[in-house]
Amino acid sequence: MSAEATNPATPGPVVPTVARRKARPRIDLRRLGLAALLGNAARGRLPDAIGHVAEAHRAHYPDADLEPLRRAYVLAESSHRGQMRKSGEPYITHPLAVTLILAELGAETTTLTASLLHDTVEDTEVTLDQVGEEFGAEVRYLVDGVTKLEKVDYGAAAEPETFRKMLVATGSDVRVMSIKLADRLHNMRTLGVMRPEKQARIAKVTRDVLIPLAERLGVQALKTELEDLVFAILHPEEYAHTRELIAENTARADDPLADIADEVRAVLREADIPAEVLIRPRHFVSVHRVSRKRGELRGCDFGRLLVLVNEDADCYAVLGELHTCLTPVVSEFKDFIAVPKFNLYQSLHTAVARPDGQVAEVLIRTHQMHKVAEAGVVALGNPYAQAADAPAADTADDTVDGERADPTRPGWLSRLLDWQKAAPDTDTFWSTLREDLAQDREITVFRPDGGTLGLPDGATCVDAAYAQYGEDAHACIGARVNGRLATLSTVLRDGDTVQLLMGQDPASEPSREWLEHAHTPAARIAIQRWLATHPTTAAEELPAPVPSRPVPEPQASAPRTASAVVVDRPEAAVRLAGCCTPVPPDEVTGFAVRGGVVTVHRVECAAVAHMKGTGRPEIAVSWGDSTGCRVTLVAESFGRPHLLADLTEAMAQEGAEIVSATVEPPSQQRVRHTYTVELPDAAHLPALMRAMRNVPGVYDVGRARHQ
Ligand code: MN
Repeated sequence: MSAEATNPATPGPVVPTVARRKARPRIDLRRLGLAALLGNAARGRLPDAIGHVAEAHRAHYPDADLEPLRRAYVLAESSHRGQMRKSGEPYITHPLAVTLILAELGAETTTLTASLLHDTVEDTEVTLDQVGEEFGAEVRYLVDGVTKLEKVDYGAAAEPETFRKMLVATGSDVRVMSIKLADRLHNMRTLGVMRPEKQARIAKVTRDVLIPLAERLGVQALKTELEDLVFAILHPEEYAHTRELIAENTARADDPLADIADEVRAVLREADIPAEVLIRPRHFVSVHRVSRKRGELRGCDFGRLLVLVNEDADCYAVLGELHTCLTPVVSEFKDFIAVPKFNLYQSLHTAVARPDGQVAEVLIRTHQMHKVAEAGVVALGNPYAQAADAPAADTADDTVDGERADPTRPGWLSRLLDWQKAAPDTDTFWSTLREDLAQDREITVFRPDGGTLGLPDGATCVDAAYAQYGEDAHACIGARVNGRLATLSTVLRDGDTVQLLMGQDPASEPSREWLEHAHTPAARIAIQRWLATHPTTAAEELPAPVPSRPVPEPQASAPRTASAVVVDRPEAAVRLAGCCTPVPPDEVTGFAVRGGVVTVHRVECAAVAHMKGTGRPEIAVSWGDSTGCRVTLVAESFGRPHLLADLTEAMAQEGAEIVSATVEPPSQQRVRHTYTVELPDAAHLPALMRAMRNVPGVYDVGRARHQ
């Protein structure tokens, strides 16, 4: 982000310092190109300013060719020359700092080259074509990926649409997001010069979008620092309190963690396992979380032990020694080596207790795992160069319409890129993105064909259907979970096997109810799109009910004798089924149930299909000449004061007599009301439903289906 580029406060004649942002210095491009080519720094000699970058880079890549970095620096420095950061520093300090962050994390040369140039196209006369000509297609792609869309063109949509563009670019090359994260980190570090409102706005976007992305891409080092910077801005009092707690702990004479570290070292030396034992202080947000969880903090709560070993097998050997020679807290044991987290993270987690009851958390991992835990995708280097042995996940859909797709692209990003295509407008995209990123755990479910689906924690069969079939999931009629029939609302657990049952009818329609069970953006956006293009009118029924679960033997909701109904068997008692509440002039059919009673269903009721399927004989029924009816209606609404009063008032005005009413407790601001009403004339039902829909806050009214 380079919004803080301003005109320099030039000495000499007074120049207004509040001049336009992003002022572009007048630079003769041809002279610039020449300078970049010849430069003050001769080929092979590095300008001092990138000494730190080069050093950090060589620490990870001893043989790296530094020439592209030198050329990128010369071009960036000369093109930004004259621009200042809001802090008053020369602008070039920003791309240099961003590049140093990436170099220290172990980013490869192409990322660093693009990082040095990342603001040139946005803020200077340098063009993308020029970057491409001088540095090649990959650097051009990365710079393009992080270049913001202009406010002039996009107005308020510029920021969300810039993120959309960056995420799409990240789908083809994850290094785009590496640069963006480091860019944001440096901007957050230097945010103090901004107005407080602006600080808070940027901190919120960082919290809602960048931090979850850093977490998902496994870049722990950036994530924790970003968390602390956001914490300081958005929760200054709690931040100050946490700082005090940490300072008090540091001042204490004894350090229980250091004692345990010594003990662990002795145990491992004895067992002849080469290992480094370090104390890792928790970051501020982590201390704050622990203090919220445990109340008063003790010495061991301010950090964790980190045991670094050389081989995977050593991790388990260390674990064995610790669990034998110290007192383990077995409930704290987690194996993220055998079952890695979705973000590449691998470690063993355990905890040991001291005689005084203090518990120290211990992380055990190899040096290689540690590098990945800290730097995540940044440590993967060029995703294309390593495609063959890249560790990353879900590659099921990594060819996208012939475009090149990053072979290390994780499953969650593929799904995000899928739903964003369907997100019709900026606001939907922006709010859905933040919701999607807020779902941090992921589960894996198996398909009968052996494939897998990655879904957020809490996902249901509806989500699985849309994840697997896209909009074709509208035709889903049910599911088997671990071999058993299950409702589409069933919440899936990690490791479940899900078989989706698909209908053959091309005109199949999703049920509005599914929205309540859709947790993934892909499912929600697809269903909402369908509903938006198929509005129900007052006289129409809702989409036909879909048997989303094994249909139980239907029960008449109340022992209602329907003298409205004429049955083939004169002696039979008649009940209107509670599952579909038939009303004249619905087409109806009957089935004999226990006690010589005939229940009457609407012909399209799911129970009818089920009972016919099991060979139950139908009994012909028809409506008599009475015009009155009793019907159960379900109103879906957003909660608001006086809603119940307004709704019942509207119903009374239509002549409906309310027999019973239930209101479910609101869930996510939505309330479902169920009314059983008697109408003197069934023909008046559409008007009643229309009147109910017209009550503000009500967004749907339908006839009750199976309960
Ligand atoms: Mn920047």
